[in-house]
Amino acid sequence: MRPAPFAYHRATSLEHALALLAEHGEDGRPLAGGQSLVAMMNLRLARPRHLVDINDLPLEGIEQVGDVIRIGALVRHERYLRDDLVARYFPVIREGVACIGHPTIRRNGTTGGSLSHADPSAELPLLARLHDATIVAASLRGTRRIASADFFRGAYETALEPGEMLTHVEFTLPNSRPFGAFLEMSERRGDFAIAAVAVVMEEEAGTIRKIAIACSGASQIPIRAPGLEAALAGQSVTALAVAGSAIDAFTATLAPPGDIVATSDHRRRLIAALLARALASAGERTREGR
Ligand SMILES: Cc1cc2nc3c(=O)[nH]c(=O)nc-3n(C[C@H](O)[C@H](O)[C@H](O)COP(=O)(O)OP(=O)(O)OC[C@H]3O[C@@H](n4cnc5c(N)ncnc54)[C@H](O)[C@@H]3O)c2cc1C
Repeated sequence: MRPAPFAYHRATSLEHALALLAEHGEDGRPLAGGQSLVAMMNLRLARPRHLVDINDLPLEGIEQVGDVIRIGALVRHERYLRDDLVARYFPVIREGVACIGHPTIRRNGTTGGSLSHADPSAELPLLARLHDATIVAASLRGTRRIASADFFRGAYETALEPGEMLTHVEFTLPNSRPFGAFLEMSERRGDFAIAAVAVVMEEEAGTIRKIAIACSGASQIPIRAPGLEAALAGQSVTALAVAGSAIDAFTATLAPPGDIVATSDHRRRLIAALLARALASAGERTREGR
């Protein structure tokens, strides 16, 4: 397993990285944690002629800026698990990131790498979609803000253009303490998920004020469940435990991909079962305040 020949460039600043990416266009790729890219190069599924190592760029922060949390492209997965802002405002992100691979992957893999790689089963794209995150990309032409709904175009396909790199992702702060749950099913612990679901909600006096529901495994990109969200918004949190018919109505609209790991029908039933458990768990946590 050897990669096709390539040139290695270590970028010393964002401007330097963008100049290198502009110079090499389709032949250039940012190198972040290398967890996916190096494996794909070794298998010759990817053959970039120029690797632009971005690891020296100052993109490793998680900070609050106004009403958003801004997460740098080089924030490693494991950092989410010990960050106070994430723990306080985005408990579902923390729970989802804990499901990524195993410790070595979480220590090396980056936020920008995971979102740009856009694996249909990856946790961070699903969490970005759940929270309507905004993806910030830069190129020599300037900065572009892309809604997560427009960012994921297909399996391993995003709205990023040649010469462009993801610099940050922004998550809007909730108005009140959020509750939720993240659940996934994989063949073995640490494997990519066959299907995953995530729920986040804010409540007021026992009523669901706002709810977002997303899943992966249903399509080549993470999707939201707008009909299910509309059916539950404004209801008592107790409705979360008995959402069966609303879940059925949502999953009946899905045509999940089938492969050697799971048939389409198996994925649909899995998503329904995970949704029922995640919604019930979110409701229970809300009532118990945890
Ligand atoms: C054994 C194994 C198990 C794994 N399990 C999981 C799992 O369960 N869940 C999960 O979500 N992931 C999993 N991963 C993938 C892991 O999370 C990767 O680290 C991640 O998908 C890519 O991040 P990276 O920083 O390593 O990116 P790289 O491998 O460096 O890059 C991946 C792609 O993104 C591009 N890229 C990187 N950074 C940027 C940027 N800032 N802007 C634009 N393009 C960029 C690269 O050019 C490349 O095309 C696993 C990986 C391995 C090897």
